[in-house]
Amino acid sequence: LKSLLKDPTLLATDGYVGGKWIKGEGGTFPVTNPARGDVIAEVADLSRAQVAGAIAQAEQAQKDWAGWTGKERAAVLRRWFDLMMENAEDLGTILTAEQGKPLAEAVGEIAYGASFIEFFGEQAKRVYGETIPGHQRDKRIMVLKQPIGVAASITPWNFPNAMITRKAGPALAAGCSFVARPAAETPLSALVLGVLAERAGIPAGVFNVVPSSRASEIGKEFCENPAVRKLTFTGSTEVGRILLRQAADQVMKCSMELGGNAPFIVFDDADLDAAVEGAMMCKFRNNGQTCVCANRIYVQAGVYDAFAAKLKAAVDKLNVGDGLAEGVTTGPLINRDAVDKVQEHLADVTAKGGAILTGGLPHDLGGTFFQPTIVTGVTQEMKVATEETFGPLAPLFRFDDVDEVIAMANDTIFGLAAYFYAKDLSRVYKVAEMLEYGIVGVNTGIISTELGPFGGIKQSGLGREGSHHGIEDYLEMKYVCLSV
Ligand code: ADP
Repeated sequence: LKSLLKDPTLLATDGYVGGKWIKGEGGTFPVTNPARGDVIAEVADLSRAQVAGAIAQAEQAQKDWAGWTGKERAAVLRRWFDLMMENAEDLGTILTAEQGKPLAEAVGEIAYGASFIEFFGEQAKRVYGETIPGHQRDKRIMVLKQPIGVAASITPWNFPNAMITRKAGPALAAGCSFVARPAAETPLSALVLGVLAERAGIPAGVFNVVPSSRASEIGKEFCENPAVRKLTFTGSTEVGRILLRQAADQVMKCSMELGGNAPFIVFDDADLDAAVEGAMMCKFRNNGQTCVCANRIYVQAGVYDAFAAKLKAAVDKLNVGDGLAEGVTTGPLINRDAVDKVQEHLADVTAKGGAILTGGLPHDLGGTFFQPTIVTGVTQEMKVATEETFGPLAPLFRFDDVDEVIAMANDTIFGLAAYFYAKDLSRVYKVAEMLEYGIVGVNTGIISTELGPFGGIKQSGLGREGSHHGIEDYLEMKYVCLSV
């Protein structure tokens, strides 16, 4: 991997704690390239005690960091952003090597991830409080916004860069310090952020990365250590529930970006070519491994066959392979479990009367490569209707009218992203209102940007990331009542 980098010193494998690079008390754990199955790095396996040490360093560092002006914090965050962009290709290469997504997509993620550092750096200057007219003649009411304190994050492997920056950006901008525990599959993309944080001049202890194979122990430390004031998690709803329960003892503030089960609805007045393009990006980006990927594609009866045919033509053009190779659009799945899940959902669809339109098999490349797949004749009784597949399986459901599809779309515990394609203005407005989701894409399959508030309702989560709202998750409001 080093030989592929313009700057090989970006590849770090030790933990980054208190501005120092430390070995793991638990030895190391291997990081594999999912496209080839080979070990590309051995990364420091930090113990729970070492993570407690990192929290202590972060607590110490936060006191001074909170005293910096917003403008000063903005300046170092800007340098951090610039360094990410200057090294985007190397960061993308590291990301593809450990995660599998095609290089162009990985470099795109770096730009997306960096945008949160840029945006929230700018917001650091705009953490405005408030004055409120007093309730008595001698009273003045002020509202201060102050950093919560130490924020700890647990993040998944599907966006190894952006899931960290979109938490660290607002946290650092607000004046919090940060301890990041990256997914064990993808620690290198987190550690390189440490390398660049150091180069950018972010003070020692303000941004820490604690790689560890012991996810549940680290989760407990984050929840039980009284110095941690904020837990921010992206991952499954199942693990989110565990963390919320653990965090309850300290009444810890939590942000949760959890699972989704996104409906993607194509109405009969939709521009079908645009809908196919949107579905391709929404379903097959990152090989279906995003929490906002279309999981259920509902197509109105009048355009069902035409949409299916157009989607098939687009899917058959996907080029599956090693993400580092030229022209590849679709990488491997992250691991064997991910392949098993796709196959389980596929078998359930076919057992219950659905049909495979294209794909349906492990790819000839072997390993965790899987053919991009479309199934038709899918119904609400099938597993794909209620569970997130997180893979390259596009299930096409048929529907007749608006009320029916809204009922089906909302029939889930999840409420992260939903998409629909339609032209009729009143339908567009009503459907956008009726969908019980935190994010709704209308005539677009891509909704992610640092400028919008990303987050779910129902069991998809708590809090919002991105936009001016995102920094609120890292701020406390203090009401000061002044008698004059
Ligand atoms: P995914 O399907 O994306 O892997 P998970 O919710 O399983 O979703 O994992 C998201 C992150 O949470 C990963 O970094 C994982 O290591 C971590 N994790 C899993 N179980 C726990 C736990 N009990 N406590 C803390 N972190 C956990």
